[in-house]
Amino acid sequence: MSNKCRGCPLENSGYPKDETFRAAYRYKPDSIKILFIAESPPARRENGEYRYFYFDELTRCDALYREMMKTIFGEEFDSKRPKPYFLKKFQENGFFLVDAAKCPVNTLNEKKRGRLRLDNALKVISWTRSPN
Ligand SMILES: [Zn+2]
Repeated sequence: MSNKCRGCPLENSGYPKDETFRAAYRYKPDSIKILFIAESPPARRENGEYRYFYFDELTRCDALYREMMKTIFGEEFDSKRPKPYFLKKFQENGFFLVDAAKCPVNTLNEKKRGRLRLDNALKVISWTRSPN
């Protein structure tokens, strides 16, 4: 799959898209039962750190991961467990999360963000249906 977003003005932002792709791919279920489509990965933090749902070494500022896992696994979720434990369970249940846009879109206005979401959501769906 191409790691470029269709019509994206942020392609040269330096966002580590190959890294996010590899991180997500490790947890891609063989057969996807439920696909969650997020808007885009989060912007880089002020301290220079990149956050991402599938970065499994993150231990803080990881709200999407925590809230998703709490919602899905309920009381079984324990934020003290290493992240790979619940990412693996997420995978084993056939859940997968992709971003419509591959670059953080938070600097764009709502009109451009909306267009990027629409233009790229179908593309990521077709990627998840392909065997690899
Ligand atoms: Zn992009």
